[in-house]
Parts: sequence; structure tokens; C-alpha cells
Amino acid sequence: MKTIPHWINGAPVPGAETAPVFDPATGAEQARVALGGPADVDAAVTAAQHAFETWSESSLTQRTQVMFAFRQLLVEHEEELARIISAEHGKTVDDARGEITRGREVVEFACGLGDVLKGSFSDQVSRGIDVHNFRQPLGVVAGITPFNFPAMVPLWMHPIAIATGNTFILKPSERDPSAADFVAGLYQRAGLPDGVFNVVHGGKAAVDALLTHPGVEAVSFVGSTPIAKYVHQQATAHGKRVQALGGAKNHAVVLPDADLEFAANHITAGAYGSAGERCMALSVAIAVGEAADALVEILRRKAHEVEVGPGDRPGTDMGPLITEAARERVETAVGTAAAQGATVVVDGRGLKIDGHENGFFTGPSLLDHVTTEMEAYREELFGPVLAIVRVDTLDEAIDLINANPYGNGTALFTASGEAARRFQRRVRVGMIGVNVPVPVPMSYYSFGGWKDSLIGDHPIHGPEGIRFYTRPKVVTTRWPQPKQQATAGFDFPTSH
Ligand code: NAD
Repeated sequence: MKTIPHWINGAPVPGAETAPVFDPATGAEQARVALGGPADVDAAVTAAQHAFETWSESSLTQRTQVMFAFRQLLVEHEEELARIISAEHGKTVDDARGEITRGREVVEFACGLGDVLKGSFSDQVSRGIDVHNFRQPLGVVAGITPFNFPAMVPLWMHPIAIATGNTFILKPSERDPSAADFVAGLYQRAGLPDGVFNVVHGGKAAVDALLTHPGVEAVSFVGSTPIAKYVHQQATAHGKRVQALGGAKNHAVVLPDADLEFAANHITAGAYGSAGERCMALSVAIAVGEAADALVEILRRKAHEVEVGPGDRPGTDMGPLITEAARERVETAVGTAAAQGATVVVDGRGLKIDGHENGFFTGPSLLDHVTTEMEAYREELFGPVLAIVRVDTLDEAIDLINANPYGNGTALFTASGEAARRFQRRVRVGMIGVNVPVPVPMSYYSFGGWKDSLIGDHPIHGPEGIRFYTRPKVVTTRWPQPKQQATAGFDFPTSH
């Protein structure tokens, strides 16, 4: 059986221990992945520290040229990488292509680093004195990433970290680890020196070793909120800079003036795409006023049209969940919702796919008359379950969203500019779509939620990514004229 190794200092390194990697569409074990611990992390940090000495001295041109070459390889190998992702994650091949494209856009942003990394210069701030600033890399930085985007989420991190002169250690999800090694190979072919990009596989032991290693300067984390809080606490306690993005419960609000067919189409895709395993998935639809009955009827029809099957079968809209435990959790939640008084409009439980009877499949579920006390509303189910909450006004919808502990994404469907403006100004959420269901920002903006969806204060990629992976220096300069009078005051310096 194939074993997926660590990648340290430009070469594969086997793990002393391994864990199973499943094919979610069949339920069968398809590979083993190395499980790293302190020794593997230490080897990766040592390699990355050594590589940092030369990489941080390389020119901006050299670094961006590697990014241009890496981008080209991502284009050429998109199909191969998409199939690797689909085979381990279960999402459709087209959906995997989408995540590669969105990740590649961060590489494209990094290709333009020469512009965004420019410092500023102030001439003659005082007589004969100028000031300029510039930014320098931190050193060895680590990325700890979730299973749901095995290519895109790491790509939110490493292109910017590396292009700004850092060296990087990726600890990907142990559930779908192969994309990380594939990307490591592409970087090597793009001319990235050994030790600049490393992969240590594993779970908690590998994460803990990274959070406490004195050679790691910064940690980027994306995953569930409890682990984000833990990572933030541990890594800051060990003196590291941390960005930690957590879970979500994203609401779509539908006003009565919206085109309901359009809204339902987009909400269906936002709720059930990637089997609901997206941090920007729409898991709650708030139907305002008279929109409700008609909206639920269209959503019911569309949920029945969702084609569930293995991710590599043409025509599949939605694949299996990542594990058997995830499938059980989601199906139990649908049962609990019914017991707590929700109406199960579409019941996805117990779905069997011919030829894939042991796969981790569940069908789309649609729950109506959900209230904010119910578990189906309170928990991030991370599965294909859409909960409908009914309210009377837009302001009620906004209050409901604001009371939710998460604040990652939200979408408003309306024909009213006034309502859209009120919504975007008042809602306590980081990423907002107006008639756009999954408003993932472009790479030259930054990605990040509010409240429990982002711990600390660092969103990811775009300008915030540059800020996170570098620290600023400000230089105040005077070049005295020959024999200039050398008097120096004892008072605190002020400009004149
Ligand atoms: P997870 O929190 O279980 O795992 C994330 C990473 O943490 C993995 O690398 C995992 O190995 C590691 N980890 C898990 N348990 C740990 C522990 N006890 N100690 C230390 N490390 C541990 O998340 P997941 O199930 O892989 O991914 C799904 C979650 O990620 C969802 O909550 C989703 O909303 C969130 N997510 C958020 C964003 C965002 O941008 N906010 C993006 C994608 C996913």
C-alpha cells in the first residue's frame, strides 16, 4: 500500500508511524500517511532555518521568478492535482479544479510582490533628514491546515510566506495529505531551493511540536474554532505570531423582493456544494416575511435534483463526506432536529450509492422551521444540511446573525440597494455577498471572518498576508555635509 512521506529539505522522508487515508467514496483504506512527531518537526525546522540564511538574501526578482514558474506548473498539472484531491477528499474533480484556481490566484498575487512590497520614503522630514521603511521576512513559519481544501488553504499561506523571503513548514490534514507532497514536487521543479518548503504530516503531536518549537517564528492555522483557539493560545504563549481562522455558520438572507428562483439556485449550490464541507458553505437560510413558503418549495425541488455520487463520476454534483464519523454526525443531527421540532422537508439520511455501498455518503437535507435554540442551528454540522429560519424583517435577520458566535460569511438576496447597504454596514461578519452566495474574496483582498471565525486579528492572504509574514523597519537617515557643525541637543528629538 502507498505510504505518503514527509518532505524535508527537498526529499521524501518516511515516518516511523503511519495512519490510514481512506477513499471516502468506497470507505476503503487507500494509503498510509506518515505521522510526524517532535523529531520530524525538529528536522524540518533545522532544514528551514538553514535554507532561510540564503533564501532571505535572494533577490526579489529571483523569488518572484520561482513563483511565476510554480504558477505555470500548477496550470499544467491542474488535472492531476484535482484528481489527487478528489480521490482523498471525495469532492468532485471540477470542484477540486476550482480550489486549485482560487489557490493559484494567491500565487499570482505573490508574482506581483515587487509592487505590494514597496516601502515608502519621506524626504526632508527635518532639515537634512529623510525617513524610509521596508519589510523583512520573519524566518521559519508554519502552516497547519484543514481537510476541506487540501490545496487552496495551504496556498493561502505558502506563496506569500515564501515570496516574502521566509521558509515554510506545512502540516496538512492527515485525512487528505497527498496534495501537499505533490505541491512540494512542483516547487522543486520551479527552482525553489531545498528546505524552503517542507511538509510534516501528522496530527496533534506534529502540531504541538510546531507550536512549541523555538525555531518557528509564526503559525498560520485554518480549521475548527476549538483547535484555532488552542493553537492561538499555545503559539502566542511560546512567543509566536499567530493567525488562526476557525469554523463558521453562514447565513443567507432572502428578502421578499429577491428573485426567488435565482436565490434558491445559488443557496442550493452554496449549501450542498462540496457536501457542505466548506467554511463558506451556506448552512442557514433566513427567509424574511412572505418569501418563506415559496422559497422552501423551490429549495425542496432543487435539493432533490442534486446528483450525489463519487467525485470522479461525470455529472456528480456532490460527493461523500470525509469520514464515516462525519456521516454519522450529520445524520444524527438531522434526527435531532426532527426530534426538536424542525420539519424535515428533504431527508438525506441513509442514502446508498450503487457500487459504493460502504462510501461515506449522505444526501442533501433541508430542515424548515428551525429555531436558534436547536442544535442544527447552533452547531457547525459541516455537511449537506440547510436549515431554514423564518423571520419577519431584515432587521430581525441582522440581529439573528449578529447574535451567532460565528461571523465568517453571509449573503443577502434582494433587489433593494438600500437593504443591501443597511445589511453590509450592520452585520457583524467579515465576508459579505450581495446576491453572491459564497463571497470568497479575491487573492488581492484578504480572507477572514469575525468573532469565533477568526481568533486574534490577522486575516489571511492579500495585503494582510504580506503584513503577517513580514515585520517593518523604519530608517531615519542624515548624511551630514562635510564639517557640518556637530551640536546635539539633550532634549528628546523633535523635527524642525
Ligand atoms: P480541525 O480543526 O479538526 O483540523 C485542522 C488542523 O488541526 C489539521 O491539520 C489537524 O490535524 C489539526 N488538529 C486537529 N485536532 C487537533 C488537536 N487536538 N490539536 C492540535 N491540532 C489538531 O479541522 P478540519 O476538520 O480538518 O476542517 C474543518 C474545519 O475547518 C471546519 O470547522 C471549517 O469551518 C474550518 N475551516 C475554516 C476556514 C476559514 O477560513 N475560516 C477554512 C477552511 C476550513
